[in-house]
Amino acid sequence: MYIQNGVLAIISRVKARLKKLTSMRNHVFLALLLGGIVPVLILTKILQSTYIEESVNEKIAEIQSYGNKVATQMIYTGYLTTPSMTDVNIELALAASFYEGRIIVVDGNLKIIADTYEREVGKTLISEEVLKCFKGNSSVITDRKQQSGSISIPIIQSESKNVAGAILISFSLKEQYQILERLEQKSGIIMIFIATVLVLIAFIYSKKLIKPLKEITQSLKHVTDGYMDDEVSIKGYYELEQISDSFNEMLARMKTIEESRQEFVSNVSHELKTPITSIKVLADSLLMQEDAPVELYREFMTDITDEIERENKIITDLLSLVKLDKKSGEMHIASTNINELLEVILKRLKPIAMKRNIELVFESFREVTAEVDEVKLSLAISNLIENAIKYNVDDGWVRVSLNADHKYFYVKVADSGIGIPEAAQNYIFDRFYRVDKARSRQTGGTGLGLSITKNAILMHKGAIKVSSVENEGSTFTIRVPLSFIA
Ligand code: ADP
Repeated sequence: MYIQNGVLAIISRVKARLKKLTSMRNHVFLALLLGGIVPVLILTKILQSTYIEESVNEKIAEIQSYGNKVATQMIYTGYLTTPSMTDVNIELALAASFYEGRIIVVDGNLKIIADTYEREVGKTLISEEVLKCFKGNSSVITDRKQQSGSISIPIIQSESKNVAGAILISFSLKEQYQILERLEQKSGIIMIFIATVLVLIAFIYSKKLIKPLKEITQSLKHVTDGYMDDEVSIKGYYELEQISDSFNEMLARMKTIEESRQEFVSNVSHELKTPITSIKVLADSLLMQEDAPVELYREFMTDITDEIERENKIITDLLSLVKLDKKSGEMHIASTNINELLEVILKRLKPIAMKRNIELVFESFREVTAEVDEVKLSLAISNLIENAIKYNVDDGWVRVSLNADHKYFYVKVADSGIGIPEAAQNYIFDRFYRVDKARSRQTGGTGLGLSITKNAILMHKGAIKVSSVENEGSTFTIRVPLSFIA
């Protein structure tokens, strides 16, 4: 059990470490480090190889030209047939010691006729280089380990162009390779120095670069903990400034949403409490009277029923609003004849209008079919017409008209009612807002109707506007796209 826990702890620690590896700071650090070191590394390698190539080639060219000169000399002096010529032998010995190597001469029968080490004279030499020479080609070999090189040059007869023999010169490249080694050592030290400086710079710079991101993370944590008052301010990097600006914008929006949520909750509680308080007052006063007459009971019970009805209406409206607050995924879109939809609504509302002798007129400029959620749109338009009747004068009129262009259809609800004061026009779509609380209460208003309408229209990606003059009337116009935009 203990062992299992221990292993799990180690695994989670390793996981945490691995997660850290993906940190942006590590990536920036690595990028800076590699970006600095790799080019320097490549450059020093190129310089070193260029140096060794140049210096070795120079040496080879020098020895080759010497070998060619000696080969010509040997042809002219007839050395290959009389290899005992002292002056040529002395020259070969001097050259061999100058190049810190060995010179071997073979004649046309592959027999060694001269060897500055004097060990192999008289022997036959068959090697790849010698055979190459007899085909007329010279060859060069270098060996870094031995710090030496060897060149073989054919001795060619000037008239017949036949190969009469070959000269093999081995020579030392100690000086060149030692300089290369010193160069490698020095550049190694310089590399370590550069790497150390780069590590420092990368460390400091990556820390500086990541600092603002850490600040944002900190602020986000703060907000998650419930503190919304802190704003982030990051200066210096354009992109990060943009992030912090967007973050602050988001924060401001969240604050507004939170405030309106709190206001909504307190409004809901208040609105739901009002009818209950009335019911309690009515019931209490009945209970307090011992011999209350039946008429009084009847009257109070009627009032209680009215209050219950009101409570019911508030709850129904709230539920509609909550449903409309959900995402547009909840939309049941279908191609709908808007003329028919309006006629059905008007037929349903006609009796209410007739009670106050209000004329209800429908004007249609064309047949309109649109992709809409029939239930939601009906609710929105019904609310507008109900309001036009509710806030009207007796014997007034309500005109509903329908029109369309190639993109939208328009429904206009105009009335001859009491109108809305200009100062209130900005607020009528807010939840629970009522211009005249007492009147709205009398007519059974909850202050939720227009916010339900607005939400339903917005869910159709439409728009709503109002124009109104007090004591003259109001006109509400909605504009809805003919094709639904998801
Ligand atoms: P209510 O349930 O109180 O009618 P609404 O959200 O539908 O709530 O309307 C908000 C307020 O806007 C109403 O209380 C009323 O004061 C005003 N209002 C809405 N429609 C009209 C209208 N056609 N004429 C005059 N006032 C209106």
